[in-house]
Amino acid sequence: MSAAAAARQILTQLHEVMASRLHPQAKLDRVVEVIGEVLDSEVCSIYLLREGMLELFATRGLEQSAVHVTQLAIGEGLNGIIAERSETLNLAEAAAHPDFAYRPETGEEKFHSFAGVPIVYRERAIGSLCVQHADPRRYEDIEIETLQTVAMVLSELIAHAGLVDDETAALGAAASGPVMLQGLTLVKGIAGGSAVYHQPRVHIDHVVAEDTEAERQRVYLAFDKMRDQIDTMASQAEFGVGGEHVDILQTYKMFAYDEGWGRRINEAIDAGLTAEAAIERVQQRTRMRMREIDDPLLADRMHDLEDLSNRLLRIVSGQLGTAATQGLKRDTILIARNLGPAELLEYDRRRLKGVILEEGSLTAHVVIVARAMGVPVIGRVRGLRGIVREGDEILVDADKGIAHVRPVQQTADLFAERFAQSRQRQAAYAEMRDIEPFTRDGTRIQVMMNAGLRDDLAALPLVGADGIGLFRTEFQFLVSATLPARERQTRLYRDVLEAAGEKPVIFRTVDIGGDKAVPYLDSVTSEHDENPAMGWRALRLALEREGLLKAQARSLLEAAAGRKLYVMFPMVSEPWEFDAAKAVFDGQLAFLKARKKPLPEAIRYGAMLEVPALAEVLDQLLPKVSFLSVGTNDLTQFLFAADRANPKLAERYDWLSPAILRFLARLTQGTVGSGVDLGICGEMGGRRLEALALLGLGFRRFSITPVAVGPIKELIRKVDLPQIEETMKRLLASPTASIRAELQAWAESNGIDTD
Ligand code: PEP
Ligand code: MG
Repeated sequence: MSAAAAARQILTQLHEVMASRLHPQAKLDRVVEVIGEVLDSEVCSIYLLREGMLELFATRGLEQSAVHVTQLAIGEGLNGIIAERSETLNLAEAAAHPDFAYRPETGEEKFHSFAGVPIVYRERAIGSLCVQHADPRRYEDIEIETLQTVAMVLSELIAHAGLVDDETAALGAAASGPVMLQGLTLVKGIAGGSAVYHQPRVHIDHVVAEDTEAERQRVYLAFDKMRDQIDTMASQAEFGVGGEHVDILQTYKMFAYDEGWGRRINEAIDAGLTAEAAIERVQQRTRMRMREIDDPLLADRMHDLEDLSNRLLRIVSGQLGTAATQGLKRDTILIARNLGPAELLEYDRRRLKGVILEEGSLTAHVVIVARAMGVPVIGRVRGLRGIVREGDEILVDADKGIAHVRPVQQTADLFAERFAQSRQRQAAYAEMRDIEPFTRDGTRIQVMMNAGLRDDLAALPLVGADGIGLFRTEFQFLVSATLPARERQTRLYRDVLEAAGEKPVIFRTVDIGGDKAVPYLDSVTSEHDENPAMGWRALRLALEREGLLKAQARSLLEAAAGRKLYVMFPMVSEPWEFDAAKAVFDGQLAFLKARKKPLPEAIRYGAMLEVPALAEVLDQLLPKVSFLSVGTNDLTQFLFAADRANPKLAERYDWLSPAILRFLARLTQGTVGSGVDLGICGEMGGRRLEALALLGLGFRRFSITPVAVGPIKELIRKVDLPQIEETMKRLLASPTASIRAELQAWAESNGIDTD
């Protein structure tokens, strides 16, 4: 008999048993008989969770007097292991397993072979189903598959019959203890809340199909829809609107069209499962295989399949949308494989306390956005989604790159202390708000902040920054479903200037493309780009789509009427690009002048320096610009040829490597005496040790993420510029791969805390 036929035969009979008017216990007694008979097994037993213990609830073949007497702790004996790890066991000789726990009252000594599977309800193991045989033989794969399918059906029946109480079902047995996850610090800070999956998990409530053909149709339709979605994602944006990477989309595509996957789901439907249960059933099997895979590359691909399987489940069950669409109900730690900046911005800032990603890298835009939102982020947490369950309590210590899942009381107490300390530290930084950042030798350093949305301006008076050194105008485009109209842009820029008061705001013209995908502009941003970060993005795109830049220019000029306007162009690679962009502004200025409209009191133009080539023609650029701002996020990705959004490269190159530092040193030397104001606006400037190095290289203007303003001001006040300049010269004269350790040691010996 095939696995599907055996499962179907059992399912039909189970259905009858469960639909009968029998008492729940009598039903279970019948269930073990049916399974034992069809699988031709001498023993079939069901263990269920009760008050934290696994209890023998029904058996065929073992002593009946052991029912409701034999109990095992989670993790004790073979059934305890199955429940704890949600794992299948298949053993020719049960007693030979190191975890075998002999229970004399059951009379199981006569039976040698053993196979058991977990009974899982809503992702939690609530018991185990096992068969035993007198002959010492391993069960066949098809028998195991049948058991697994039956266990799935049983879980629904058991939960509905009230054989496991709701509280037990909610907690489950597997991995319910505390776990500490280790990852990479992407945004520092500490936070606590309940786990919410960005892509919500689908709960399967109906497992047994009423109409197999109808279920088959549902799966076909869902497959069609999913393939359409993937095709659109792949063709729309090679880098994916949702932050997915090209190679992930490729793999999605491969799996979405994989006939084997569809066939296996079909077979599970043949066995009598609903579409949802069939998809989950096949995924369970894949998960089991995954555990045996040692190859990280292959394991990654299996994660892709898991994602896709979830997508299919959500389509088939009609549960679409992300957790942001559903709204956050309490303090939340968001769990995701990866996120796009626009996706993160959809979340309610009051409830979103922290983010844990399986991937992620320091300068990916989603991380920049999180930093600006003041949300701590840990990335590169392997196996994250296998460990954390929706609703789990999580304490995030992003300073150390650690998350405590289901923490014990002691950890929670320690965190309460940390929260108090952090509040104190915040208060200390807040005290820095009105203190001007002079170095010890009396040099005033400009500390400005980066912003991108109207809301961000609220931070300006709170942190006491000298102005907005980088206003990323593309954020408005990212959070909008359609191209923002000119009036809307003008309103935003006016509000921003209003909120900034006397303080300067440097508006950067749109930097769309790269990992900042805008769906309604996809046809221009990514259509032909093999490599979007180096492709048709930022100023290149803006100069081609002149209408876009013209509208922005007019909005900015109008919004800044009667005030000083600072305009900065992103990704300038050659000086003529700066000229071309400025000419667009000049054109709009002439237009407004001709119509006698109010104009800005003064306009200053500047460029981002983030393409290394531009540094080689500084002499040609400097006479044209009023200011320059070094974008180290892009600059370092181009210097090292290392994609800033690629998680595999996230830890490979250090900002304190001699290559970057020497490059930056040449820049500061190259601008001396030019009258051009040189600043830095990449994420590097917001980190204390890096900022110390930058001061030593000659940088005197920083534009950083708002939460870093207090800490950087405090650092500046401890620095003696001649000393650090001297130190940097010395360290860069004969450097090691990274000067981090030496600089750190120097800082410590000079009483400068760089954490
Ligand atoms: C940079 O590249 O360093 C920068 C500040 O710009 P963005 O991060 O927006 O690309
Ligand atoms: Mg940039």
